[in-house]
Amino acid sequence: MKSLNRPVISHNGNSINDHEIYDIMLDQRRHLSMRNSLLAIKSLVSDKYNAYIALNGKLEDINRLAENHPNRSELDSLKKCYDYNTGVINTLRQAILATTDSCPYCQINNELNKRDHYLPKALFAEFSILSLNLIPTCDICNEIKSYNVFNQTERRIIHPYYDQINNHRFLCADISIYNDTPVVNYRVENIESIDPYLFEVIKKHFEVLNLQKRYGKISHKELHRTIRCFGRNAPCRKCPIEITRYFNGEADNSKENYGVNHWNTALLHGMAACDDIIGFLETVLGAEEIKWPRQ
Ligand SMILES: [Zn+2]
Repeated sequence: MKSLNRPVISHNGNSINDHEIYDIMLDQRRHLSMRNSLLAIKSLVSDKYNAYIALNGKLEDINRLAENHPNRSELDSLKKCYDYNTGVINTLRQAILATTDSCPYCQINNELNKRDHYLPKALFAEFSILSLNLIPTCDICNEIKSYNVFNQTERRIIHPYYDQINNHRFLCADISIYNDTPVVNYRVENIESIDPYLFEVIKKHFEVLNLQKRYGKISHKELHRTIRCFGRNAPCRKCPIEITRYFNGEADNSKENYGVNHWNTALLHGMAACDDIIGFLETVLGAEEIKWPRQ
């Protein structure tokens, strides 16, 4: 999970805002009746954009954006804006993907094919081409998240452009050996006093996107690679202090490259904090074949 810088959209060499994107999209529309229909609701859309932008970090109130909804036929016209795959909309689509090289919802996948409508297009069509509502995501997160943003008024998914989570560590991995089998258990914990409201959203996000299981699945291969690397490079295999220092150093490198709440950074912190680290390493390094638990 990570925060992203807001997308920058350029047109003819100049950076443009969301209101200007809407205006340019109108100019580029060839279908006259569609253009007139979108023109008629321009001021309504503009007000809705301002309300979204004004939230600026107060996403507790995001459900209020459902007030003063456009009517059904206006919503139908707005939904189609996103599917208009030429001109400024194409530029917008590319700019969204350019904000990151990994999915901000999971940080597992680097193949980003989708732009998730944070507020779903089917319910909030007025934000179908609002850059702040378009999040670059992997296929899996896009599919699981779908409409799953709110449960009543409770927010369940982080908003990578608004929620600032990159400077606070909250993802942990507990590592242990059970019947000669390494077990990795991911969880979130409010270690660094994140705002309680935001931490509740993080907990829900972790749960909704099934990140405990998804991280657990990929961590075994990485754990295997990390420990083999340790076997080749570590100065001492028997000194707990040296071993802890080694894995904390690796965690710092991962934090630098991927962020403090990347699953691999948490995994390395988990190695450094593992109570039975020597026994754990001996088990893994000494085994011909490692037994990994089924996920
Ligand atoms: Zn993802």
